Amino acid sequence: MGLLEKCSRFTRAREVQASGFYPYFIPIEQSYDTEVVIEGKRKIMVGSNNYLGLTHHPYVLEKAREALYRYGTGCTGSRFLNGTLDLHVELEEKLAELMGTESALVFSTGYQTNLGVISTLVGRGDHLFLDKLNHASIVDGASLVYGTVHRYPHGDLRALERQLQAVPDKAHKLVVTDGVFSMEGDIVDLPALCDLAERYGAEVMVDDAHSLGVLGDDGAGTASHFGMRDRVLLTMGTFSKSFASIGGVVTGPEPILHYLRHHARSLIFSASMPPASVATVLAALEVMKNEPERRENLWRLTHRMQDGLKSLGFDIGGSETPIIPVVIGEMEDTFAMWRALFDAGVFTNPVMPPAVPESQCRLRISLMATHTDDHIDAVLEAFATVGRAIAVI
Ligand code: PMP
Repeated sequence: MGLLEKCSRFTRAREVQASGFYPYFIPIEQSYDTEVVIEGKRKIMVGSNNYLGLTHHPYVLEKAREALYRYGTGCTGSRFLNGTLDLHVELEEKLAELMGTESALVFSTGYQTNLGVISTLVGRGDHLFLDKLNHASIVDGASLVYGTVHRYPHGDLRALERQLQAVPDKAHKLVVTDGVFSMEGDIVDLPALCDLAERYGAEVMVDDAHSLGVLGDDGAGTASHFGMRDRVLLTMGTFSKSFASIGGVVTGPEPILHYLRHHARSLIFSASMPPASVATVLAALEVMKNEPERRENLWRLTHRMQDGLKSLGFDIGGSETPIIPVVIGEMEDTFAMWRALFDAGVFTNPVMPPAVPESQCRLRISLMATHTDDHIDAVLEAFATVGRAIAVI
């Protein structure tokens, strides 16, 4: 069978397209941060990771514009060669400061950060331990390692302990976990995980993609939230969420980051973050520091939305953060619910198998600091009306 024939046999997406319920690759014509225009109509955006609502902040826009005109549209090369600007270096210094670590290293995306860090550090004879609900970029990084990969059921530290016990004492062991799990919105039990890791001589890396800007009094993520920064070896983050841009970072001890700088293939063989994107993150860090009320509002709105959905009878799983999964059940109901909400002016993200089990299909809501109480009311009203119409509540 040729590739053309193999690909033509994939008909599932075309069937959903024909049914009118296809929810992917929808072109947004204009964005006003919390609202977007699609097919000429405004929708409330509750499917974005723009947690601090900084994509349209005047200061952030101005800094991005300045960098665009000073350095041009792209770096046209890798960090390793011609693609490092003074802005990248400044950003690394600021991120190391935020995270309270010796050093930081900026990649072009969060995906590439996980790929590069994990595949470079876990070598032959080493052991890597992953929560089964970790992000795909961690799983893909693990697929590149020469060491042994162990996966434990979500949050099951007993299972992790059994896996750690079975590995030779002297072997190098790295546990990688999401700080906030992106499909569930729950927070890892980092104190217990670190206790366990320390008992077995394992080191811990946290993916703070959904925690930076959201958790911790200073927005410095999961370890800061638990007051235990010194117990995590490495933290990775992305700029495609709270920091309103694109790019990724790993923070930690200087010798490890120095090694990564010279060995991580996804850093060395890919062009660096464009100037305006770097300047955006630098400006976002300043705004995050100067406007703590954004994070406070994000959490206030999160609790309002969580309570509102629960009192309507929706199952929001173990959500503890601005990521709120609304579990609908079967795929057909979930697509129907997504479409009806979309038509009612609410943009959510459907989450389907294989990301979740068949019977656990869900719509994922993510909130922003800039949503208003009117937005929350309107979204809850739409969920109530549509949920009753489709008989899922
Ligand atoms: N880790 C997690 C937990 C994520 O949710 C994401 C993005 N969805 C990434 C890593 C990758 O980040 P990026 O979008 O910067 O590639």
